[in-house]
Amino acid sequence: MKYKVLYRKYRPDNFDDIVGQEYIIKTLKNSIINGNISHAYIFSGPRGTGKTTTAKVFSKAINCLNPHDGSPCGECEFCKNFHDNPDIIEIDAASNNGVDEIRELIENVKLTPTNGKYKVYIIDEVHMLSTSAFNALLLTLEEPPAHSIFILATTNIENVPITILSRCQRYDFQKIKIDDIINRLKYICELEKIDADDEALNEIAYLSEGGMRDALSLLDQLSKSNQKITLELIEKQIKTISQKNIDELLTSIEDNDVEKCLNLINEYRIRAVDYKTLIKKIIEVASQKAKNIKISGIIKRLDFNDYKNLILKLADSLNKININVDSYTILEMIILDFFESSCNLINEYPVKEETIQNEVKNDEIEKEEKTEAIENNNNDDLVNIRINNCFVDAQKKYLEEAKEEIANFISIEVEGKVKSILIDSTVVAASSKNLILVCNNIHNVETANKMVKEIEDGLNKEFNKMYKIIFISNERWLQEKEKYIQNLKTKTVYKYIEEKEVSEEETIVNSVFDKNKIEII
Ligand SMILES: [Zn+2]
Repeated sequence: MKYKVLYRKYRPDNFDDIVGQEYIIKTLKNSIINGNISHAYIFSGPRGTGKTTTAKVFSKAINCLNPHDGSPCGECEFCKNFHDNPDIIEIDAASNNGVDEIRELIENVKLTPTNGKYKVYIIDEVHMLSTSAFNALLLTLEEPPAHSIFILATTNIENVPITILSRCQRYDFQKIKIDDIINRLKYICELEKIDADDEALNEIAYLSEGGMRDALSLLDQLSKSNQKITLELIEKQIKTISQKNIDELLTSIEDNDVEKCLNLINEYRIRAVDYKTLIKKIIEVASQKAKNIKISGIIKRLDFNDYKNLILKLADSLNKININVDSYTILEMIILDFFESSCNLINEYPVKEETIQNEVKNDEIEKEEKTEAIENNNNDDLVNIRINNCFVDAQKKYLEEAKEEIANFISIEVEGKVKSILIDSTVVAASSKNLILVCNNIHNVETANKMVKEIEDGLNKEFNKMYKIIFISNERWLQEKEKYIQNLKTKTVYKYIEEKEVSEEETIVNSVFDKNKIEII
């Protein structure tokens, strides 16, 4: 028996098997149920998303003698003989872009259907038609015979003349979701007894970029090796790089590991991985990381701007790949330049031994005094210490915990001024022992800091947490955050600084935050 490629063998012949276009399928079924058929449709969308398959199933349903719930019955004369049906005419505009072919088609349009209700013309890649062919088609679309239906399909809707579009009902096909592709691959592997591990199927789905046809073609190609389909086999056979490879590369950049990064690039060069694909994938993953930073607000060694700069440079390199040099050399230079600009390779790596305290005590305080009049009532030491101590072990999980605790505290425990201060403020950083809160209203900072002891005690009583809290203005926070990011980049370590000890704690807090008292202790 002749081998049938998986894509053809498993091409859906009913609506239920078409994956990932639920809305379109539902609308088309409804039009069958309601007998509301149009004379011209255009299906647009990326390759392999089911446009032609949907066109075929739809043309079957239109002509089916006994459709069930908008779907072809699969049993009537028409359904059974669908494949060699003279009433379904398929034209591939990519190979028939001449006006003659369209003229011939239009002449046939006048003929009545042989055995169905309608003659259906499916024109694939319709954007490839020449201008005169489009003009000829337009004449027909303007006055279509009652028994004819046109279904145009295209991957480039922008190249289809507006005059044509305005005559058609338009459906935009979406890329198929990775999970939907994986499920279909699993289903087919089971029927075909193809041994493939989950990781490999994931990768095939990822590589196919939302196109079922590409996914099945890849599966076909890999299954011919007659061995278990694994990630290694994919890498070996497809000359591509896996999601895992990209993660490795970006992790080496994040870890400031120049050597590993260059080794990886060289490995891809030796494997002759397609440069365009590689760059596209790095950009995809890097932009996801950049977006995550914006959304979560988590501070990491590489920040949003670092990723943004990398992405822009990589995208720019795609314009240079036709220049007659090894594209990978360009990639190496981009990455090295990136290390240089974002990672401070020289001297500051490995870890600096000084703590932030020294830095703060020098010129920083002078700068801040100008902008932070409200906070700098001679309590800057304690403010700095508490900010520093919070950064020693600031973590997202602590931040989430603290946010929840403060929210609970507001809702159940506190009243009056403390409540309004807390409602006005946001926890912006947290360790297990320290919290930094920003007052939205800058005039509240001083008042808030006078209530610190009360809030600390309350949180202790309620949640058994011995937090040291500091309130600062948003402006101050932005400066501190910036410093923190810089320190992360240079791997400067924050060290815990003891707060000054005294006999009566309450007095300290009061004195420290009291505007009128000059001395701390
Ligand atoms: Zn039927």
